[in-house]
Amino acid sequence: MPSMTSRKVEQSRRLQERAERYFPGGVNSPVRAFRAVGGEPPFIVRGKGSHIWDADENEYIDYVGSWGPLILGHAAPDVLDAIVSAACNGTSFGASTPAEADLAELVISAFPHVEKVRFVSSGTEATMSAIRLARAYTKRKYIVKFEGCYHGHADALLVKAGSGVATLGIPGSAGVPEEFIQFTIALPFNDAHAVEHAFHKFKHEIACVIVEPVVGNMGCVPAADDYLVALRMITEREKAVLIFDEVMTGFRVAFGGAQELYNIKPDLTTMGKIIGGGLPVGAYGGPKEIMDLVAPLGPMYQAGTLSGNPLAMAAGCAQLKHLREKKAEIYPRIDQVAGQLVEGVAAAAKDAGLPLTHNRVGSMFTWFFTPDPVTNWDSASRSNTDMFGKFFRAMLDRGVYLPPSQYEAAFLGATHSEEDVRHTIDAAREAMSTLKD
Ligand SMILES: *Cc1c(COP(=O)(O)O)cnc(C)c1O
Repeated sequence: MPSMTSRKVEQSRRLQERAERYFPGGVNSPVRAFRAVGGEPPFIVRGKGSHIWDADENEYIDYVGSWGPLILGHAAPDVLDAIVSAACNGTSFGASTPAEADLAELVISAFPHVEKVRFVSSGTEATMSAIRLARAYTKRKYIVKFEGCYHGHADALLVKAGSGVATLGIPGSAGVPEEFIQFTIALPFNDAHAVEHAFHKFKHEIACVIVEPVVGNMGCVPAADDYLVALRMITEREKAVLIFDEVMTGFRVAFGGAQELYNIKPDLTTMGKIIGGGLPVGAYGGPKEIMDLVAPLGPMYQAGTLSGNPLAMAAGCAQLKHLREKKAEIYPRIDQVAGQLVEGVAAAAKDAGLPLTHNRVGSMFTWFFTPDPVTNWDSASRSNTDMFGKFFRAMLDRGVYLPPSQYEAAFLGATHSEEDVRHTIDAAREAMSTLKD
């Protein structure tokens, strides 16, 4: 078990100094930096199941799971075996391989509204391409996204985005000319009237609505009852494409993603994270009628040197096969265990007299340091991020690795044990008692 004493940091500190010489902020993705929470980031050297170890040999229970992909835990045996045997046959060919259709069959079996799919190498590429495809299909320019939702770092989508953009408290990104975002309409999440209003104002000009059907990137914020139904109704009536960005929720909130959980049929679906088993993958898919506009069959161009990479396909196949075989066991269990964890920590906060709101859908969750319900970016952004930072550091010292931002969802996977959960709740009780001073 992770020790409850303060962790050693010498090696990680040395590695951080080295990293800062080479990388802006010492990182290759801003969400990994500890700027929002303070403290010294551990450098991870290995993982097994639900635990990770840093360069100073500190052990942590991991609730980041590589930001979502690792639903089967670190170094899952069947995923590792698949990667090793694929690698022995060569790492990349830039020609078609059988593994691509193997993964496509698994994805399509879980997502019946996806008839055809295109694999790419990241979630960013998936959403960027899906937007381009929606514009090609509708021959319209405007897109609707929601404040606090993150769909990768494509120019037109970096408007009031969640994730690291929200964590850093910036409205968008420098280097994006306003002309590039003039067709992006950012609306408050969970407000169907705002969507009606936009379609009224931009009649026949909106190509698509893109949404995280369970938001993970402003922390976990579920859609209100009937909100997704409303989005479906409005987009159908207005002949706009509804894109469910299931990069995070796909194979996470249910085997068939949020569209299975809420029984809603989007037009296009984007995926990533879990479908790559921890290797770089993204995908976008939908009905043949739309997908056949993609090159080389149609005029919408999109390509990738490493798209459908054999190692990524093998890792994804192994992970999805495992999930498919055991889904009747895994999904109810992670829902139940995550429920115990989230409620247990909420109870600890209550006993400590700390204001805490918790949101959870299945194994995705966030503890917001605010007394009020969190239903959109406005309410999420009223959280006490200083308090979150203190909680985060106190948990890290007690062997619990949470996402280093108030505005990121945490994840529980199939390898988290009841012992992990007990330890985490005990750690939270201790951590909360230090927060009051
Ligand atoms: C992670 C994420 C992305 C971006 O995926 P990358 O692989 O990081 O480019 C897009 N959309 C959602 C909902 C995500 O959670």
